[in-house]
Amino acid sequence: MLTSRPRGTEDILPEEVGRWYLLENTAREVSRLYGYREIRTPIFEHTELFNRGVGDTSDIVEKEMYTFTDRGDRSLTLRPEGTAPVVRAFVEHSLEARGLPVKLFYLGPMFRYGRPQAGRLRQFHQFGVEAFGSRDPALDAEVIALAMDFYTRLGLKDLELHLNSVGCPACRPAHREKLKAYLRPRLEELCPTCQGRFERNPLRIFDCKSPACQEIVREAPTVTASLCPDCAGHFHRVQEYLKALGIEFILDEHLVRGLDYYTKTAFEIMVKGIGAQSSIGGGGRYDGLVAALGGKQVPGIGFGLGLERVLLALETQGQEPPPEGGVDVLVVTAGTGVDLAAFRLLAGLRAAGIQADKDYLERSLKGQMKYANRYPARMAVILGEEELARGRVSVRRLDAGSQEEVPLAAVVDYCRKMKESGW
Ligand SMILES: [Zn+2]
Ligand SMILES: [Zn+2]
Repeated sequence: MLTSRPRGTEDILPEEVGRWYLLENTAREVSRLYGYREIRTPIFEHTELFNRGVGDTSDIVEKEMYTFTDRGDRSLTLRPEGTAPVVRAFVEHSLEARGLPVKLFYLGPMFRYGRPQAGRLRQFHQFGVEAFGSRDPALDAEVIALAMDFYTRLGLKDLELHLNSVGCPACRPAHREKLKAYLRPRLEELCPTCQGRFERNPLRIFDCKSPACQEIVREAPTVTASLCPDCAGHFHRVQEYLKALGIEFILDEHLVRGLDYYTKTAFEIMVKGIGAQSSIGGGGRYDGLVAALGGKQVPGIGFGLGLERVLLALETQGQEPPPEGGVDVLVVTAGTGVDLAAFRLLAGLRAAGIQADKDYLERSLKGQMKYANRYPARMAVILGEEELARGRVSVRRLDAGSQEEVPLAAVVDYCRKMKESGW
């Protein structure tokens, strides 16, 4: 127990952290390009927030939450997703008062008690955006474009954008009746979960993975076919904006987000070759969520995507992770009486923005050079007793094996220029 991590969690070791920097930096960079600002909310929230904000008929709330009682007898839950906390913060801090739209992004760990499998962990990481305060279909297209841009910058290929509209409270009730009329004669054939959904939330039957249910809903009336004029017009405009950006999409009438506050645009991004569950992100409009969580009638749209899934897709497509872990310079000492000068030089290199380190195990000169190669360091700056007395040091390029003498006073500048010119 003491030396094994909990099931469904992962350690990100130093040699793997480079790919996480790449994901996080790309997420921040793209978000800022589109005018989204970062928000950081707590890892845990009141359980009630997720019961209401994610929906108490959802799989997440029914089966997957890490809920605990704290010492003050409050029910708290490790956040299973990012939208509800961001909406809570939006309402709590009256962010709409700063002028709409409010465009936010988040990055961080989420927690779901699911069955661990490739790219699906119990502690996993999400990148998401939420935009509040506008019903403009251009904003829907922007949010989708931002997600696609993120994937593309990372080098992901073979992406498929699935797009649908799930209507609104004006057009859904009529569809709901049509759907129930269609399903009623075959109710017995639905899986037990969907039989339970039939009254509460029949739209979610489209989401069911059971082959029997999939078969039944294949011919079922879709909400897309019952859109009210407002929803139909909005959906049409979203498609026009996406086309204007050259973003290809597949219309997918079976793509639903089965909760009442989800409205209009729904989208999901798939990538080929990472197994049956090829979704690597999705989102949509939630014009009813802010009000459902106690705020004003403020519309919203966003997406969330799992970064472990993105890494898995990148690996499957043969993308090499960026190298990580070396330093620019290892300061090496030869002989006695040079330790203080070496330590000062180390500080000088670091102050100049050069990644630098030294040996701390009293290795021999040969041992230090081995250490420099293993680290790996690009260069070794060698301080010898005799040279130092002449105010000079040796600079050795470890890749080429070439070596030259440089004045001690000029060596920091020498290294900086090397670094700036890409070594
Ligand atoms: Zn509608
Ligand atoms: Zn089912």
